[in-house]
Amino acid sequence: MNFLISIPFSLQITAILFLGLILGSFVNVCIHRLPKKESIIFPGSHCISCNEPISAWDNIPIFSYLLLNGKCRQCTKPISAIYPINELITALLLLVGFLKLGISIKFLIFCIIAPTLLTISIIDIKHKIIPDIITIPGILFGLIAGSYLVGLKDSSLGLIVGGSTFLIISEIYYRIRGRVGMGGGDIKFIAAAGALLGIQQVILIIFISSFMGSFVGLAGLAGKKFNALSQIPFGPFLSGGTLIVYFWGEQIIQIYIMNITGRY
Ligand SMILES: [Zn+2]
Repeated sequence: MNFLISIPFSLQITAILFLGLILGSFVNVCIHRLPKKESIIFPGSHCISCNEPISAWDNIPIFSYLLLNGKCRQCTKPISAIYPINELITALLLLVGFLKLGISIKFLIFCIIAPTLLTISIIDIKHKIIPDIITIPGILFGLIAGSYLVGLKDSSLGLIVGGSTFLIISEIYYRIRGRVGMGGGDIKFIAAAGALLGIQQVILIIFISSFMGSFVGLAGLAGKKFNALSQIPFGPFLSGGTLIVYFWGEQIIQIYIMNITGRY
């Protein structure tokens, strides 16, 4: 990939943002169609109000939304602002990943996982599920990419430890409370994350996401936004935890080890 480094930096940034916008519009297709088990390829984009096909010209990420003033050209019904927002978030995520990781295989893997994590978070918030169509290929992808990042052995261990930790928690919760607290989607998600990042980092993801989830849960209880029976989707916290660990996992583990051994 050395030839890429000779491209001017401003051009690299522009290309990354452009790629982010395109991946972001693919995120929009996925969040809309995957929960309904529709194909993400056919038919082409259509308005969700009037079902009219959207021309390529009206389907340019962010710009078309602004040009059309947030309304469908055919039926003039408003288009949800979530679409351009997702495109923008994906582009910014890719930019942060690029600045942090540079031109590398780790960045290439990031270009696949960042839009996937955003898709999972939004689907989980809206539908309270993490679809198998994402997590099962995710486990396979985790093993392949994980073999490169941490080696096949650590990748397999991460898969097993991550998946079985959540499986046990889910079983215990079910026995005590008599209802499902942690869904199968969360279990497959953490198995995939474990395969991608290995055993130490998957444990860190579990800690970080549980901490963030409890914090938001308690804040919601205190602010009376939820009650004790509310189902808070865990996908966004798992996704956030995975992103943090993907960027800083090794450093966090280093600091932790230095603290418990007292060696600096
Ligand atoms: Zn329309």
